[in-house]
Amino acid sequence: MENQISLDTNLSTNNTNSEKTVLKGLTLDELKAYFAKSGEPRFRGEQVFNWMYNHLVTDFFEMANLPKVLRTKLKDNCEIMTLEYVESEISSINGTKKYIFETKAKNKIESVIIPEEDRTTLCLSTQVGCPLDCKFCATGLMGYKINLTAGEIYDQYVIAAKDHGKDNITNIVFMGMGEPLLNYNATVNALEIFAQELTTGISKKKITVSTAGIAPKIKELADKNLNVKLALSLHSCFDDIRSKIMPINDKYPLKQNIDAVKYYARKTRTRITFEYIMLNGINDRDEDIEALWKLCKEFPCKINVIPFNSLKHMNPSGLSAELTPTPLERINEFVQQLRDKNITVMIRNTQGEDIAAACGQLAIKYNY
Ligand code: SAH
Repeated sequence: MENQISLDTNLSTNNTNSEKTVLKGLTLDELKAYFAKSGEPRFRGEQVFNWMYNHLVTDFFEMANLPKVLRTKLKDNCEIMTLEYVESEISSINGTKKYIFETKAKNKIESVIIPEEDRTTLCLSTQVGCPLDCKFCATGLMGYKINLTAGEIYDQYVIAAKDHGKDNITNIVFMGMGEPLLNYNATVNALEIFAQELTTGISKKKITVSTAGIAPKIKELADKNLNVKLALSLHSCFDDIRSKIMPINDKYPLKQNIDAVKYYARKTRTRITFEYIMLNGINDRDEDIEALWKLCKEFPCKINVIPFNSLKHMNPSGLSAELTPTPLERINEFVQQLRDKNITVMIRNTQGEDIAAACGQLAIKYNY
């Protein structure tokens, strides 16, 4: 279900109904419309936007440039925060920090802060669980519960930024639990909020949406002119192999997704990232190198090679239990051969494996 915006709240009355209007997640235009509908000047929307998304204020009484009487009305009728902090854990290896938050509906979600030499990345979830059932991913194994709202997506940033220091977060990736493009409206609204200059100060070039490949939505996102970066979880250039490890490939096969990311690259003038988990004997053969080269030489893109992170903490069965990581030596050889063909390839460091915070390890143990 998408974020529902109720514009019916009458700010001039005391709201006895416990259903308050949640303001977090409303875009700038939606906030202006909300205040206009409530008989207030539209610029109040901009002020509240700035307080909530830039100053990360969680209490209407801190909104110093609003009249006191309006602050009281807002307190009676509206809410700001959509998430509560539950707990966090820090990796003893590299300082990666995993947060657990709880939604009002008592669903738990995870976000991860990954400090690296030249950047600090916040990894956000877009759904509680995930419906895609990718065989290599812990979130897939926990199943799908519900979409997050735009407010719940943004509040992961709010709590992490207040904890870690807003200026210390330099990159945002939509790579946590869930498939962002299957929660399209909330993802787009959250992106619109992130992309406003008034908010995080993080440029669009440093915001990446990662998708397993929902081809029509990739094109729709391109047309939104948000111009954030897009990563496609590719993992194989062959439909039969990709379908085995990513069942969504039956619905949107490679050709559709490649056409869509080419369109995205053209329309947004950004370089596509292909994410590629190295799975022993499955996608690390010489013919995979050849196929990747053929694909990548055609348009502006780069490959992010990801060492496969263990799913052991999930006690997997079936194909998931059989997957093993490509040995490091072969990863290096694979990457070198692509580089020799002038393809840009990065190897993603594994971060936070000791606290199950690495790529594809996010799953809430409470839900079992
Ligand atoms: N649904 C989106 C975003 C979440 S997954 C997507 O599929 O892109 C974020 C990234 O982590 C993806 O590239 C995904 O393929 C990768 N990933 C999933 N499980 C992993 C694992 N066990 N080891 C390493 N990377 C994994």
